[in-house]
Amino acid sequence: MKPHKQIKDWGLGLSNPMIIGGPCSAETPEQIAQICSEMKENQIIPQVFRAGIWKPRTRPGSFEGVGEEGLKWMEIVRDELHIPVTVEVGNAAHVEMALKHNIEILWIGARTTVNPFAVQEIAEALRGVDVPVMIKNPMNPDLELWMGALERMYAVGITKLAAIHRGFSDAYDKRYRNKPNWSMPIHLKREWTGMEVINDPSHIVGRRDGLLEVAQSAMNFGLDGLMIETHHDPDKAWSDAKQQVTPRRLKEMIDSIEFKQSLENMKPDEKLFDLRRAVDHLDDQLLDILQERFTVIDQIGAHKREHNLTVFQSDRWKEVMDSRTEKGVKKQLSEKFMKELLYCIHEESVKRQERQLREVEPIHK
Ligand code: PEP
Ligand code: MN
Repeated sequence: MKPHKQIKDWGLGLSNPMIIGGPCSAETPEQIAQICSEMKENQIIPQVFRAGIWKPRTRPGSFEGVGEEGLKWMEIVRDELHIPVTVEVGNAAHVEMALKHNIEILWIGARTTVNPFAVQEIAEALRGVDVPVMIKNPMNPDLELWMGALERMYAVGITKLAAIHRGFSDAYDKRYRNKPNWSMPIHLKREWTGMEVINDPSHIVGRRDGLLEVAQSAMNFGLDGLMIETHHDPDKAWSDAKQQVTPRRLKEMIDSIEFKQSLENMKPDEKLFDLRRAVDHLDDQLLDILQERFTVIDQIGAHKREHNLTVFQSDRWKEVMDSRTEKGVKKQLSEKFMKELLYCIHEESVKRQERQLREVEPIHK
């Protein structure tokens, strides 16, 4: 069973944009109380409070979370802020403990999403339970794994689902702790219309500076919320000290972000309507031209077959690639876009011609 593509029978349905704040890890009851009190003081009450209780560490020896005891401290959040709490679960035992302590929302971390065995184990533990689940993207940029984890939850009856975009591990990109690869969350939203995707700039950037820029991009792209790690004394945090911000800074950030309106739930205005009509018309023209181009490609294919020529000719390919890219760049299209577009068209052309050759020539043994 997959989340339905048309009818939105799943989702958290929380306010948009949804702000999730709270520390990377719960450390002590005093720490939780202090963060809550500073959130109140600075008038920045998130919709949901996050805290890691079990920390999946890349290497052993670093702080691995306070464990079950920390779940009791979540009462402080409920008493002080009156908001739901979310914690990360990595296995069935975590699920059982979190549910026992009435944790309102569960999340699955990036290191767990990569492992279908672990995700399935969590799903089984949740069968028949009505609790919202948020799933972080896997460490590697594999959309299928991310979707697979959401599907595994849906299949056991969890329909209150959301995704968290926390970026992807990349050994070569030093700007980010985890590279955003914006096409991934966008693709997820395209595949499953209405899927709520919350951006986690903290784990993308890995430092305090740059958080705002990523958070703003997320809102510009139309993502549905932000999860930002918040600590009253970030430098002394027991995990992810470099990237956490104070409640005061969280407030400043949220105040300075420009939240765009999502068009999904409103009537497009007239101007936008006209512009979209123009785009529809241009797309029709684009399709006509592509159809015409492939007709000619098929004629070339027939000629190659007749004269026993190979489908791929590297000189010609290079010339097409270089000349079109140059023309495209002059028309303000990026070189990367031109190359990707030409690769895509060329691949389809080569496939068609190769199929033509096979159709008339039986395979000789
Ligand atoms: C976290 O949210 O603190 C965390 C461990 O995140 P991720 O799973 O994205 O690495
Ligand atoms: Mn963290």
